[in-house]
Amino acid sequence: MMFRHCQCRTICRRVLAAVAFAALLKTILATMFACARAAEPLDGEDGRPLALNQFRPRPSLVVPADRPQRAKYPVVDVHIHPRRKLRSVPAQLDEFVRVMDQQNIAVCVSLDGELGESLESHKEFLWTKYRDRFVIFANIDWLGDGRRDEPATWDCHRPGFGRRMAAALADAKERGASGLKVFKMLGLVYRNPDGSLITIDDSRWDPIWKACGELGLPVLIHTADPVAFFQPIDRYNERWEELERHPEWSFAGKEFPSHDELLAARNRVISRHSQTTFIGAHVAGYPENLAQVAKWLESYPNLHVEIAARIAELGRQPYTARDFFMNFSDRILFGTDGPRPINRLRPHWRMLETRDEYFSYAENQYPPQGLWNIFGLGLPQEVLRKVYAENAEKLIPGVAQRMEIYAKSRPAAKYDENQGP
Ligand SMILES: [Zn+2]
Repeated sequence: MMFRHCQCRTICRRVLAAVAFAALLKTILATMFACARAAEPLDGEDGRPLALNQFRPRPSLVVPADRPQRAKYPVVDVHIHPRRKLRSVPAQLDEFVRVMDQQNIAVCVSLDGELGESLESHKEFLWTKYRDRFVIFANIDWLGDGRRDEPATWDCHRPGFGRRMAAALADAKERGASGLKVFKMLGLVYRNPDGSLITIDDSRWDPIWKACGELGLPVLIHTADPVAFFQPIDRYNERWEELERHPEWSFAGKEFPSHDELLAARNRVISRHSQTTFIGAHVAGYPENLAQVAKWLESYPNLHVEIAARIAELGRQPYTARDFFMNFSDRILFGTDGPRPINRLRPHWRMLETRDEYFSYAENQYPPQGLWNIFGLGLPQEVLRKVYAENAEKLIPGVAQRMEIYAKSRPAAKYDENQGP
């Protein structure tokens, strides 16, 4: 009995072990299968699903296309960052000037001048060989020698900051600066010692805006960012695939001001300082709503806009954008947020000059500003000339003289060869 009992228990144990082994095997296989599925590329091939950020449709559309290889008229690019993007390397500057020559960009405005000795070193970088091709805007250093994570230590919170910066700007003008660039951190991330956000229209900065008016230095001010960057990163966000790659570009959430609040604060400054010229960077921060920008341009005669890094927005609304350019041809300036390579510059000429349809605005693997294509506006000659250069010549000190030098050194005929009719 004992023996049988033992044998029975042994059999039972063996059965249990076999069952347990089978269960374990099943789990292992299921896990392996799940891993295999997860590792399966979401490339849309052989019946597999396709990830949104892998979708690269090639249009079958067959339509006439102009594809200008260079700008039709000499261009002033009022928005470039050579200090940051060329890292002050002379050989990179040489290369960029070759691109400018090739693309018919006569003059660029560096927005990276800073102040004092820093301005001197930037002048040395740009002006040693290319004084005729670059003008420079200064920047305010809000933090000074303060610690980034301790707003109470920032220079802008010390008494008399506005007055001191006004004096520094007068000095920058003496040193050859042509304007002031204000970066987007003002209003968006910079804080007061109590933790609240510094507002753009804080009266402490009034002496700065006033000084720019008195000194004849235009203020190019970058406020806010694409509307989608202020919205939750979810399936309704039109820039989802880009924000998924760069979550740090998102300003959604309670710790940030809203897109509307930022632009309203900026507009109060523009309205309060009617003697100062303001250039709203990136179509005044709201290319998604040109009717709204049009209202601002009507309300504030001292406001102008530039189009840097927003051809994806303008070119996806060709009828509205064309009307906008026609109605405000005296108030719009050309910009790129460059230095850009040739293949990023060409879509600018194509959008502004031609009636080409549904083309890519950038050559990147990922279109950098929304998964869509754009359309040409086919702007008339006189509007192109204003937007490309004439408006900048009127607004920005030092540009007109440089344009004259450029025109003299490059007889038009020499460059008209591949322009077509
Ligand atoms: Zn910029």
